[in-house]
Amino acid sequence: MPEHSTQPEPARLQHFIGGQATPPASGTYFASTNPATGELLYGAARGDATDIDAAMAAARAAFDDPRWRDLSQTRRGHLLRRLGDLIADNAEDLARSESRDNGKLLREMRGQLTSLPEYYYYYAGLADKIQGDVIPTSDRTVLNYTCREPLGVVGAITPWNSPLTLTTSKIAPALAVGNTVVIKPSEYTSATILRLAELVVEAGFPPGAVNVVTGFGAEAGQALVDHPGLAKISFTGSTATGSRIAAAAASRFIGSTLELGGKSPNIVFGDANVANAAMGVVAGIFAAAGQTCIAGSRVFAHRSVYDELLERVTERARSIRIGDPLDDATELGPLAFEAQRDKVASYVDLGRSEGARVLTGGSPSDGGLGGYYYEPTVLVDVHNEMRVVREEIFGPVAAIMPFDSEDEVVRLANDTEYGLAAGVWTTDLSRAHRMASRLEAGTIWVNTYRAMSPMSPRQGFKSSGVGVEHGTETIKEYTRLKSVWINTSEEPVADPFVMRS
Ligand code: NDP
Repeated sequence: MPEHSTQPEPARLQHFIGGQATPPASGTYFASTNPATGELLYGAARGDATDIDAAMAAARAAFDDPRWRDLSQTRRGHLLRRLGDLIADNAEDLARSESRDNGKLLREMRGQLTSLPEYYYYYAGLADKIQGDVIPTSDRTVLNYTCREPLGVVGAITPWNSPLTLTTSKIAPALAVGNTVVIKPSEYTSATILRLAELVVEAGFPPGAVNVVTGFGAEAGQALVDHPGLAKISFTGSTATGSRIAAAAASRFIGSTLELGGKSPNIVFGDANVANAAMGVVAGIFAAAGQTCIAGSRVFAHRSVYDELLERVTERARSIRIGDPLDDATELGPLAFEAQRDKVASYVDLGRSEGARVLTGGSPSDGGLGGYYYEPTVLVDVHNEMRVVREEIFGPVAAIMPFDSEDEVVRLANDTEYGLAAGVWTTDLSRAHRMASRLEAGTIWVNTYRAMSPMSPRQGFKSSGVGVEHGTETIKEYTRLKSVWINTSEEPVADPFVMRS
């Protein structure tokens, strides 16, 4: 544990393996702090390859256990439904715990916790609707059918910005189809994922169905990705780490689902309701202190409404209440940890050196609490070649640029390595559809931003990801397809050297 000698010894969180709190093989722990105050929250087990081995063995044993393997699909659905209920029962504690861990506003976390059970209910409903097909053959005496099978032990590696939601996007479909899971949460947010794993057991899943090894990416995360028993890796995090994980998975021919970074455009046309669009811009970049993959960090405003939009967004940004995320009046909490705050600060400094003008914000703050805050910031005099416009900052920093025509803004919006999401503000129906078609992003919002549902598929285009999360499509990510041929004829085989169909 760190040298905080004047404080009482903080709680020590253990791994969760085979249904049990399990100390780390190394005996070492790392510190997790509250980013709003810098206060030490707890020590978490520092996982390594030995702990991953133990978690993988527990997950494999659960996968092979007839009590799980042979459970009917409907019963699997019941378990997921019960888990959703337990999350609803524990929502306030989970929301507070996650808010303390990553600094997100308690009221945003309460909102997330209200919708979280619905992800489990959705996949509970889907569990017994997963079925194969009977395939037509040219020979009526041959039956060919398909079935979807679970993969085995699935690895889930998740970031710190919305730990419960992003982990749920992986484990709910993975469990619905009969896999078991080993999770490596972000080192900054271990607490709620460990609690979630306890609730999984409480819901009646067999011990070992969901295991959690806490620790660092380079140690526990890497060991999980490299484990020979892993059947699939599902990762949410940065594009750089995702690329390494995809390469490791490909070298062993296992699949990967990757939800990665973004630099999403939020486009305001001259015919838009500018007051609403300004709120959409604020929601897109200042909610969650900009720490969302879908942040609308590149704002394009038609020249006819550029000044008005700037004024509205800047005015609202200036009035944003920075403070304690647990306080209902707070609108902007801290960045999740000190290095993230410093990264945001260095990007804004870089923007200044590239010629950007800071219209509001542009400074770190301690939020009056000693935490890792950064002021809501608006950059202007920016263009698409600047690094602040090209690279993901993951903080409350909007770059706002004017444009003159639809073709121009489509070109600018698509001129990015990312393709996660895009916002369009217009009252012209035809333009809305044209833009939805022309923008290269997996999610398009028209006259809204940050809308999400377990029912709606989410896919990152280009460097923003591979594979689908949410919706029925996800089922394919966590199953393999088997084709079974059954010859019902008693006739002798006429010619063994000819292919059959
Ligand atoms: P990172 O890529 O740094 O980390 C994500 C997870 O991967 C963490 O658990 C991390 O562990 C782990 N990790 C790091 N290195 C390795 C490795 N070599 N092998 C295995 N695991 C590793 O991302 P952040 O945590 O900083 O998250 C922010 C990023 O996540 C942003 O880019 C954001 O856009 C993206 N994101 C994407 C979403 C989407 O749906 N597309 C949603 C939310 C976020 P550790 O914490 O110890 O480093």
